[in-house]
Amino acid sequence: MKVGVLALQGDVREHIKALGECGVHPFPVRRASEIEKVDALILPGGESTTIALLAQSFGLFELIKTRIDQGLPVYGSCAGMILLADRVLDATKDQKTFGGIDITVRRNAFGRQVDSFESNLTVSGITAPAMKALFIRAPWVESVGVGVEVLASVKSADGLSHPVAVRQGSLLATSFHPELTGDNRIHRYFVEQVCKAEKSIK
Ligand code: GLN
Repeated sequence: MKVGVLALQGDVREHIKALGECGVHPFPVRRASEIEKVDALILPGGESTTIALLAQSFGLFELIKTRIDQGLPVYGSCAGMILLADRVLDATKDQKTFGGIDITVRRNAFGRQVDSFESNLTVSGITAPAMKALFIRAPWVESVGVGVEVLASVKSADGLSHPVAVRQGSLLATSFHPELTGDNRIHRYFVEQVCKAEKSIK
C-alpha cells in the first residue's frame, strides 16, 4: 500500500516515521502525479490556511478534493482535521478546506492560554492504555453529522465535552498530534482499520 504524506507544510517527517513503524512504505507527496498514485493520504499538522493556499497555488487542491470524494482513505491531524472538515468556524477570510467529513470544527478552539496541552485520552478502537494526546493550537469539533463516529472527546474549561477524534468511512481526523508523541497506535488504526475497511464502506 502506497501511503503519501502531503508535504507542502507541517510535520511531514514525523508522520512518515510513525507510518514506517506500521509496516507500510510512506513517502512525501507534493506533485499531482504523486497524489494520483497514492492508495492513502495523510494531511499533517501545521497551518491549515497555509496548506490550503499552497495546494491551490500548486494546482493540487481540486485533485485532492476529488480523490477524497472518490473514497481515498485520508487521515488528518490538527490542521489536517480542519482541512477534512466540511465547515470551519473562526476561519480566515476565504479559507477553503478539502472537506469530506460532515463536521463543523472551530479553529484554535481551546483558547490562547492553553495553546498547548497534553491529556490522557481514551480513544474508541484503540486498545488501552489511554493515549497521551498532545494538543497544539488545536481545533475541536463543534458539531457532527449523522454519519460521523466520535472516537474521543475532551472537556473544555466550561465542562462541555468536545469531540477531538472522528471517523466517517475512509476518513479519520484527530485534533491532537500522535505523530509528535512517539505513539503510533492511531497510525496503525488508520492503516489496519480505516484503509482496509474502505471498500466495504464506500
Ligand atoms: N491552528 C492551526 C490551524 O488552524 C492548527 C495547529 C496545528 O496543526 N497544530 O491550522
